[in-house]
Amino acid sequence: MAKKAGAKKVVAAGKGKYVYFFGGGKAEGNGKMKDVLGGKGAGLAEMSSTGVPVPPGFTVTTDVCRMYYLARKKFPAVAARQFKDAVARLQKVTGKKLGDMKKPLLVSVRSGAKFSMPGMMDTILNLGLNDHTTSAMARNSGNPRWAWDCYRRFIQMFGNVVLEMGKEVFEHQLTEVREKAGVKSDAEIPAESLQEVVARYKKLVKEKTGRDFPQDPFKQLEMSRDAVFRSWMNDRAIYYRKQNKIPDDIGTAVNVQSMVFGNMGDDCGTGVGFTRNPATGVKEFYGEYLLNAQGEDVVAGIRTPRHISNLANDMPRVAKQLKDITTKLEKHYRDTQDFEFTIEREKLFMLQTRTGKRTAQAAVAIAVQMVNEKLITKKDALMRVTPEQVEQLLHPVFDSTARRNAKVIAKGLPASPGSASGMAVFSADAAVEWAKDGKATILVRPETTPDDIHGMDAAQGILTARGGMTSHAAVVARGMGKCCVAGCESAKVDEHGKKFTVGDLTVGEGEWISLDGTTGEVLLGQLPTQEASLSGDFGIFMSWVDETKEIGVRANADIPRDAKVARGFGAEGIGLCRTEHMFFAADRLPHMVAMIMAETEEGRRAALANLLPFQREDFKGLLKEMAPYGVTIRFLDPPLHEFLPKREELLVEIAKMEAKGEGGAALDEKKKILARVQELHEFNPMLGLRGCRLGIMYPEITEMQSRAVFEAACELAREGVKTEPEIMIPLVGFPGELKSQLEIVHRVAKETMASAGLKVKYMVGTMIELPRAALVADQIAETAEFFSFGTNDLTQTTLGFSRDDAGKIIKKYREIGLFKDDPFATLDQTGVGQLVRMGVEKGRKTRPKLKVGICGEHGGDPESVHFCVRTGLNYVSCSPYRVPVARLAAAQAALGASEYSSK
Ligand code: ADP
Ligand code: MG
Ligand code: MG
Repeated sequence: MAKKAGAKKVVAAGKGKYVYFFGGGKAEGNGKMKDVLGGKGAGLAEMSSTGVPVPPGFTVTTDVCRMYYLARKKFPAVAARQFKDAVARLQKVTGKKLGDMKKPLLVSVRSGAKFSMPGMMDTILNLGLNDHTTSAMARNSGNPRWAWDCYRRFIQMFGNVVLEMGKEVFEHQLTEVREKAGVKSDAEIPAESLQEVVARYKKLVKEKTGRDFPQDPFKQLEMSRDAVFRSWMNDRAIYYRKQNKIPDDIGTAVNVQSMVFGNMGDDCGTGVGFTRNPATGVKEFYGEYLLNAQGEDVVAGIRTPRHISNLANDMPRVAKQLKDITTKLEKHYRDTQDFEFTIEREKLFMLQTRTGKRTAQAAVAIAVQMVNEKLITKKDALMRVTPEQVEQLLHPVFDSTARRNAKVIAKGLPASPGSASGMAVFSADAAVEWAKDGKATILVRPETTPDDIHGMDAAQGILTARGGMTSHAAVVARGMGKCCVAGCESAKVDEHGKKFTVGDLTVGEGEWISLDGTTGEVLLGQLPTQEASLSGDFGIFMSWVDETKEIGVRANADIPRDAKVARGFGAEGIGLCRTEHMFFAADRLPHMVAMIMAETEEGRRAALANLLPFQREDFKGLLKEMAPYGVTIRFLDPPLHEFLPKREELLVEIAKMEAKGEGGAALDEKKKILARVQELHEFNPMLGLRGCRLGIMYPEITEMQSRAVFEAACELAREGVKTEPEIMIPLVGFPGELKSQLEIVHRVAKETMASAGLKVKYMVGTMIELPRAALVADQIAETAEFFSFGTNDLTQTTLGFSRDDAGKIIKKYREIGLFKDDPFATLDQTGVGQLVRMGVEKGRKTRPKLKVGICGEHGGDPESVHFCVRTGLNYVSCSPYRVPVARLAAAQAALGASEYSSK
């Protein structure tokens, strides 16, 4: 039942027209009909009707492909009539006939979906040849070599594509005959030998299929046409679509086109080209061709093709015509074209044109050029570069040749993009030590923890065996703009033995490895890299981005150095400064530990007093670096045990000391720390004593942090630097929690300003990162002056997925199609998104001008940025290296682009 209804709908959509003819300066279809005709068919139609020389032919629509599958792989009867008529019309237009001895019609059968898809079937050329037509063609043309070459190619392609025979079996025979003939290349094989190749091929076909090679050209045509439809569902095609998020049900079209021949002699040839250099974007004719060749010879690498600039010498008239036509095509489509052509006896034919795929660098260069040439508008330009391409441009890349020749030894998750080469080291301390000697390193760890930060900072790149896209290594590396491959499970890391193994391969300390953070690949050896440039075309392009976007883009940065980088990338403020990151530094950690160890408020205050000057200087630096933009300072958030040594490590150390008979104060101290660690132990620390709960249990922490902020602001005010710090209280779920903290902040603000004798502006707001906070956002907004959605925790608490542990589950869910994306990387709009929307609405009901932003990992994800724009947020905040990506995504969202267009 369902199938029938589906078929009817398809018929209605196709309006009963299943075949579109093109040729002789006219076409039934046009360039806009990619859905129906596929990209290739639409291009052929458009070229034909604009007077470009195109061999005539016709396109069977994608509707027919869907119908073919609904009918259990049978060509639909409704389309069969039109197919026959089109063949008749093609015969009439060309004056040739299928199977005719004097003037045989030969055609190519070409697949062509809406999106160009490598992995689908190969094109079949020279269809229509059989024993009789080939002999006749050999006689009539006076060029028997050509005729037999065409026939042997045809059997080979037909055998491979339609009869599903391996390419090797054919190549094997060809090689044998070539060697027997005593020549080096296929092009030199004489006619008689080619005749023998044909005989051998036909024998192979008979052996494989039990039948003779089909001699009826119409039968050949039907079989090839249906093979194109079948290739839509071959493994390679399905895999490619999955990788590129192309739906399975759009189907492919089939193009049948009369042949032109590039292999009739040296006044013939075939080639491919681009109207601008697709690697660099330089405006130059770019391409290659071969004389006396057919079809894919150029790309197949059998002979070395000639650079297109030589065509001007070989065939000046054709070269000029090609240049004129392709220039015209580029103007017509207003974009760089990737074209295919064939020359038959010095007559040029265009066989394909499409939008040229290009590198990120070329995409930006071409977009800027075309605006300058007034070919496109700035708006168009902004849509021609994807946020992912911008991301690529920001990171160093490997030299492409070196990259191609390097050996890939393992593959993990592409956790943080960019490229890095370094010597393998297995501890953070080693990375720091080696860096002191100016050595480049890759830090290899089973996984990383906050203890490893200094090593991550010192290393060129980070490789971990465990952990997902939001593991510690991934998040921190992205923040640092450092390349990271995480969760590389095939690498067994032995940190004590200072080595890792992948299968039989062992990489020890000091051996060079390279990481590609964009693909997740781990390569052996040292590869040269090239740095990114943010000026030139990129700078111009990003200035257009900023003219267009309507929301702010801030950065998550904790220290002045990162803030500086962020500003370089165009950040308009800091949306999240995690104050605790400053406490891990060696000169501060002892005070932090002392604070945690203190048994009395007095003791804590004493330790906090030691931390105060550090905090004040940090805040001063950060506020100054960003002035006049805003800086959001989040107060202490993580569970306290993160600052103490691990329980297991302490146990080992104590046991060792006891075994050696070492006692005294040092041992007592260790035991004391162990006791405190055990006391602080929580089963679910992420749901435990952290966030504003810390400030409520120990108000003196909030007090110290407030004092540091206001003293910094006052000192800056005195220096004439205007700032407006935004204090942010984390993990609020109850309005009363926020209130209790606000009282402290406002009190300390008053005190500090009074003693400084001046006033500074400031704001106090909160993170919305618990579902309850979103639910009571109207009450929270009574005291909060701004909201910032902490979508990492909000995702964690809404989904009930621990983001530190859910990597495996998410991986499985994505494999089986339960999740489209990782919800910690791309916002779960249907679930978490509702809470965000509700939080914004409720918050603004109480405080209409409430400033709202987002500071989770999602702030730098293009799809999530689109959501934020739609939901009315004032800004997004993300890691410094993602700022340009978010800026472009915001601009594209402002232009009303689909958020999925970049996928
Ligand atoms: P792909 O989709 O892999 O690019 P095509 O269908 O474009 O495959 O065919 C590949 C090549 O085959 C073309 O570039 C062209 O050189 C050759 N070809 C296809 N159709 C014809 C034809 N009618 N006459 C001559 N050559 C053709
Ligand atoms: Mg092609
Ligand atoms: Mg949080």
